[in-house]
Amino acid sequence: MVELLSVRDVGKTFGGLKALDGVSFGLAKGEVLGLVGPNGSGKSTMINVLSGVYRPDGGDVRLDGRSLVGAKPSAIAAAGLSRTFQNLQIFGGLSVRENVLVGRDCRLRSGMLGGVFGLGGSLREEREAKSLAADLLEKVGLARFVDAPPSMLSYGQRRLLEVARALAADPKVLMLDEPCAGQSQAEADALAVLIRALAKTGIAVIVIEHNMRFVMNLVDRIVALNFGRKIAEGTPEAIRGDEAVIEAYLGRRGHAERR
Ligand code: ADP
Ligand code: MG
Repeated sequence: MVELLSVRDVGKTFGGLKALDGVSFGLAKGEVLGLVGPNGSGKSTMINVLSGVYRPDGGDVRLDGRSLVGAKPSAIAAAGLSRTFQNLQIFGGLSVRENVLVGRDCRLRSGMLGGVFGLGGSLREEREAKSLAADLLEKVGLARFVDAPPSMLSYGQRRLLEVARALAADPKVLMLDEPCAGQSQAEADALAVLIRALAKTGIAVIVIEHNMRFVMNLVDRIVALNFGRKIAEGTPEAIRGDEAVIEAYLGRRGHAERR
């Protein structure tokens, strides 16, 4: 496999806690990878390391062969990694369109303030960004809300708005942290169709999701984490029957039941 993204031996410690412990995996162009594991297993930490929110204590992350370790989140976004957040990051004071354009910031020479509010940015850039936002909102099914405030959107629709924003950066790798949380089954199904369509255009997608039906039907490959370690990797079929994965989920559930 020619790797678009290479994650090698990545570690991240908080205090004494190893949130990530020597995790490696690769991702090819157009591939959809599921990152699964019980709560606290390190999934969001991995996305935070990949997007530059956290610097790893060890290991390397390479996109197209270039190391991203130590780069700022804005530089990583510009290099081609975009993400959504487990806890939504919607700006209530901006319109739906403007919320999408925030994601375009890394591609605009004049920056977001210029692009969105016309403060000295090029008119052409501004117009292009606006039509891009409309296209992306159309793609995620939110075209009718383009000029509305985000308060008009349901929780599930806000997740789609975050996806549109992440796409505005024109990513090579799109990382979605629990995109189905709060979505109806119909919304999740529509999101799965969208993700497959994006992958077909060559975008690689990493998706963290607890909805196993969603993951199993969507992804090409799964990486399973437990206590910050990779415990399994393989096709959905292989992971479904993997002893270590079953043990990890059952073990935690057993723990919760005993409390
Ligand atoms: P997941 O997304 O798989 O549920 P996380 O990556 O959020 O798990 O968390 C992995 C572990 O790291 C957890 O024990 C969590 O409490 C801890 N952790 C995550 N972020 C921080 C942080 N900023 N400071 C301290 N501990 C953290
Ligand atoms: Mg998480």
